Amino acid sequence: MRPDSFREFDAVTLFCPRCREPVQVRKKLLLVLPGGDKYEYTCPVCGETLGSKLDRNQGYPGI
Ligand SMILES: [Zn+2]
Repeated sequence: MRPDSFREFDAVTLFCPRCREPVQVRKKLLLVLPGGDKYEYTCPVCGETLGSKLDRNQGYPGI
């Protein structure tokens, strides 16, 4: 009985140095690698890149 808004989703909040406030970043697929997909986090307001993340494919053994 958890409220829908509380669900862990792709919503990531990071501090944007340009906007000078925490923003809910936009997740953008950057690269598809053999070991996983690389995503880039950008600010939805100014478009600044705030970080990146590698989502490992679980079907692949760790290299
Ligand atoms: Zn920003």
